[in-house]
Amino acid sequence: MENILITGANRGIGLAITRRLLNEGKTVFATCRNPGNAKLLDKLSETYPQNLHVVELNVSDEASLGRAVETVKGITKSLDVLINNAGIMQRSEVPETLNFQKMRETFEVNAIAPMMVMQKFLDLLRKGERPLILNISSQLGSLQRKKSGGLYSYCSSKAALNMMSLALAYDLKNDGIIVITSHPGWVQTDMGGPGAMITADASAEGLINIIRGAGPSHSGSFLTWEGEAHPW
Ligand code: NDP
Repeated sequence: MENILITGANRGIGLAITRRLLNEGKTVFATCRNPGNAKLLDKLSETYPQNLHVVELNVSDEASLGRAVETVKGITKSLDVLINNAGIMQRSEVPETLNFQKMRETFEVNAIAPMMVMQKFLDLLRKGERPLILNISSQLGSLQRKKSGGLYSYCSSKAALNMMSLALAYDLKNDGIIVITSHPGWVQTDMGGPGAMITADASAEGLINIIRGAGPSHSGSFLTWEGEAHPW
């Protein structure tokens, strides 16, 4: 694993993964939708000017994706790992007032965009060393663990992402591309809130360990950040 592309790298889990990978000497294509505002990535650029490439990418905007692909292809001929991390959550959803535009946006970002990004970078991944796609899902996308109402958009978009990952694992098997979907833990980020169970750095460490230890037998699995099987 030398060349890694990650979405939503400007804060939260994405930033923590980026920081750790740079610290390990990897080359990171840290994508975010507003590089002009990504102050923490700017700081990392000062420390890792050779290995960090900050690339503008709004994952649900095809034109933005097209530009990002051109930029990345101008720098590298291969990618070893794609981490689909960017995600959004709608809170306080109740049946009477569901906002369907927000629901569509959530599906766009959480479920469809990871496939769009995968498709555009597939040729680079095919040239990678032990290539792997890690889709950051959630325990809230687990059908077996759903024991309460609400969070319609988020839970169902992550469940869709899990199914996409499973299908993709079958389709990319002959290419030798490993596809894993993972629950990153309940993490202290803007999304997880300050009362969450683990730090973004602890989540990043676990997720990177999954990538490092992954082999063909792990493709198609849904794993916790600690590398254990998560119920679907
Ligand atoms: P944050 O809210 O802290 O960060 C979300 C990231 O996604 C930001 O970088 C944000 O960019 C980016 N993003 C959102 N929409 C887009 C878009 N259209 N294009 C590009 N980037 C976008 O969340 P976390 O770091 O906590 O979450 C990371 C992933 O982990 C998500 O997929 C989330 O669902 C998942 N997860 C998180 C859990 C937690 O407890 N925190 C639990 C389970 C899963 P911007 O700054 O521009 O908004």
